[in-house]
Amino acid sequence: MSDYVIDPPPVASLPVAGSTARFPVRRIFCVGRNYADHAREMGHDPDREPPFFFDKPADALVVGDEDVPYPSATDQLEHEAELVAALGSGGCNIDAAGALDCVWGYAVGNDLTRRDIQAEAKKLGRPWTMAKGFDGSAVCGPVYPAARIGHPVSGHIRLLVNGTLRQSGDIAQMIWTLPEIIAALSRLVELKAGDLIYTGTPSGVGSLVPGDVVEIAIAGLGEVRSRITSRSC
Ligand code: MN
Repeated sequence: MSDYVIDPPPVASLPVAGSTARFPVRRIFCVGRNYADHAREMGHDPDREPPFFFDKPADALVVGDEDVPYPSATDQLEHEAELVAALGSGGCNIDAAGALDCVWGYAVGNDLTRRDIQAEAKKLGRPWTMAKGFDGSAVCGPVYPAARIGHPVSGHIRLLVNGTLRQSGDIAQMIWTLPEIIAALSRLVELKAGDLIYTGTPSGVGSLVPGDVVEIAIAGLGEVRSRITSRSC
């Protein structure tokens, strides 16, 4: 018999590519404006900003090719194709030089965003939580172990909607590299095994509507294909 007064929530997890094993997810961190062309398209100067972070709850994960219900409370759901790092260990004040030792694997992700709520939050100086951390906002594909594929520092990242190219870039274009991101984030929180880091999106973000099919691919990390379905709430 458990002492819990209600059933504890299930552990969020991702499949491991080429295996029946699962990667358990603890927290989901995201980096803002980490590609210069995307920072510019959002009206910011890419040269001056240190990295900044927001997060999503672990149970916002949409795993692999599962359908994504169009979220409530928005008329501007936007896609952001991103490289996701999955940590196998963590720590505080991690040195960038050894930071990749913390990375267990990599995946393809979509940092779904209620852009209208984000725009209002920016204007009013409010938190981004409801713009970024809503149910179903963290699409993520299978985790490819670094032990098998290494630590990718370059590679094509692209996103198509209904077969039309919307985003195309290279992960080598990140303003802050993954080791720099881990070092900066670990000065703010203690990172731990199971943490995911969404590393930012290249330019070309845009709106989605129910019925759209979103395909995201990163060289060496396969492809995630999501169908946007009608609102569930
Ligand atoms: Mn993003």
